[in-house]
Amino acid sequence: MTITETILKIDRLTKDFGPVRAVDGVELDIRRNEFFALLGPSGCGKSTLLRMLAGFVTPTAGDIVLEGDSITGLPPERRPLNLMFQSYALFPHMTVAKNLAYGLEMDRLPKVEIARRVEEIMAVTDLTEFASRKPEQLSGGQRQRVALARALVKRPKVLLLDEPLGALDKKLRERMQLELKRLQHEVGITFIIVTHDQEEALVMADRMAILKDGKLLQHGAPAEIYQNPADRFVANFIGVMNFIEGQVGTDGFFEAPGLTVSNAASAAGQAALAIRPEEIDLVGPEENGLQGRIVDIAYHGLDRVLHVETPASATPLQVRVSARLSGGHMVGETIRLGIAPERCKFFTA
Ligand code: ATP
Repeated sequence: MTITETILKIDRLTKDFGPVRAVDGVELDIRRNEFFALLGPSGCGKSTLLRMLAGFVTPTAGDIVLEGDSITGLPPERRPLNLMFQSYALFPHMTVAKNLAYGLEMDRLPKVEIARRVEEIMAVTDLTEFASRKPEQLSGGQRQRVALARALVKRPKVLLLDEPLGALDKKLRERMQLELKRLQHEVGITFIIVTHDQEEALVMADRMAILKDGKLLQHGAPAEIYQNPADRFVANFIGVMNFIEGQVGTDGFFEAPGLTVSNAASAAGQAALAIRPEEIDLVGPEENGLQGRIVDIAYHGLDRVLHVETPASATPLQVRVSARLSGGHMVGETIRLGIAPERCKFFTA
């Protein structure tokens, strides 16, 4: 199923804190039922953007439109959006079920309706067996699920999550990433998540946006951005990328020490060639490859990443190969790398 209908329109949203422009004219359409990730380095403005959506920060300029109506002037409690904070403060003296019912009781929903909704959300989030426990009697991951259930039980149209897995250790974090995605699918609510972790965004998001210095650099499906990064910053930020600095001649050839690559799309002058570790081939001596020496071998499950020193770049190039094919390689060995022009990107800035 492709999701195309826009639920939330972020229209040239800007926020200045004194002289600091934290968010700079961001335009994005969030689609109904999608899992959208806002991604960027520390200080890029992603939390400020999320807080503007939730209503906790007033925009300097721009508009937020939910299902066709502007919500920019509404206070947080009147927006059909719910923000789940990184520090998911649960009430320590209340049971799980009570924690979940609290928000609905504040909204003065009928008792029967509250009980029904709490039961339903506990079933979806696998919390039924913990209904009468208090938060301190739960593990970190279970507490995280309670916080999520508490945000979902109010049935927001959009759930905003600010680094929701930030407090969890790596293993639990990876499990929760999949769980969060399953949950989102099950409840059919639009999720907008803020993260600084590109792997997390790649695992979870249907689409994602990359921000830097308050500006939107690129947005799209993870695979699209991975394969076609708009600029050098995005290329470096998403996944692992090898960069080789060099010159493009008037003949269109890219040249670096020991390496010539044809078909460079960029204009003559200084340029960087970019290629992913899995796009570099190992070639035989009969082919005109880039010669290098293996200085390290890192194990990644069934794959290995060879770190190869070459005359073309100051830092070793990373070459990802399957263990089956590279079983015989050793540190210190000289090898040849095939860098095919159609697998390279060229950046001039
Ligand atoms: P992090 O990943 O570190 O949380 P972020 O991408 O979420 O970073 P923001 O918290 O949105 O970034 O901050 C963006 C910029 O705005 C930063 O330069 C920050 O210092 C500044 N900023 C944020 N809140 C305020 C504030 N209340 N007053 C002044 N400056 C602020």
